[in-house]
Amino acid sequence: MYDFHVHSTYSDGDFLRKMVRAAESAGLEGVGVSDHCNAASRERMAHMREVYGFNLDITYERRRAAIERLRDAVDLEIYDAVEMDYDPRDVDEIRTFLETADFDYAIGSVHEVDGQNVQVSSNYVDLSEGERDEVVATYFDRLVSLIESELFDVAAHVDLIERTTPLRGRATTDQYRRVARAFENSRTIPEINAGRALTDEEVVHPDPEFLEILRDHDVSVTIGTDSHRSFEIGNRVDFLEEFLDRRDLDPVRPPALEG
Ligand SMILES: [Zn+2]
Ligand SMILES: [Zn+2]
Repeated sequence: MYDFHVHSTYSDGDFLRKMVRAAESAGLEGVGVSDHCNAASRERMAHMREVYGFNLDITYERRRAAIERLRDAVDLEIYDAVEMDYDPRDVDEIRTFLETADFDYAIGSVHEVDGQNVQVSSNYVDLSEGERDEVVATYFDRLVSLIESELFDVAAHVDLIERTTPLRGRATTDQYRRVARAFENSRTIPEINAGRALTDEEVVHPDPEFLEILRDHDVSVTIGTDSHRSFEIGNRVDFLEEFLDRRDLDPVRPPALEG
């Protein structure tokens, strides 16, 4: 069992050492440290990096040295990965950064639509039904663009909007099919993401209908707990093991690790 998606203090998670120790205690064979990173030159994104302290674009070499030290101290594989924000306007900057940094693999994420984080319910409560559907449609446009960009090994939490009450349940079968076709024609694969699996909403990405459609299209999947706190890893790994077992799913490693 592997976990290809956890965060550390190099973005918004617990101490790197603590996360890796927790992954070892969970009995994992390997853990991928995929801290948030944004490479956009747009002023708004520079502002967000600074006020939230997302600095991996500057600190990835220090984190790499830390991972190297930890590899000698623990009994599991540690992958030096990244979760990049994706926006079609930033394709050149993302490509240049990924080529320079040369991570073990890269996860790409659509976190924002029209300058707003799609995980924040308050952004959407005052919108009409039609406007909410429009946000969901734009989210899937961005996701298809991410997949077609071929910049990433993995696309994260492919129906992130399901985390957000005003946007939940609005995705259509056609939108899922369109995403599945894009994956079919790309090196990028989706992940089973347990980042909200053990909350009251019990959201696993992708949702059951979406996962079925991806399987119909023979799209491979990888796995990630998307843990930010060390205590989250063990429970989510147990959950995912049962989840995969029940569905007879056999996840793969991110394509770049297959050489
Ligand atoms: Zn994310
Ligand atoms: Zn994440």
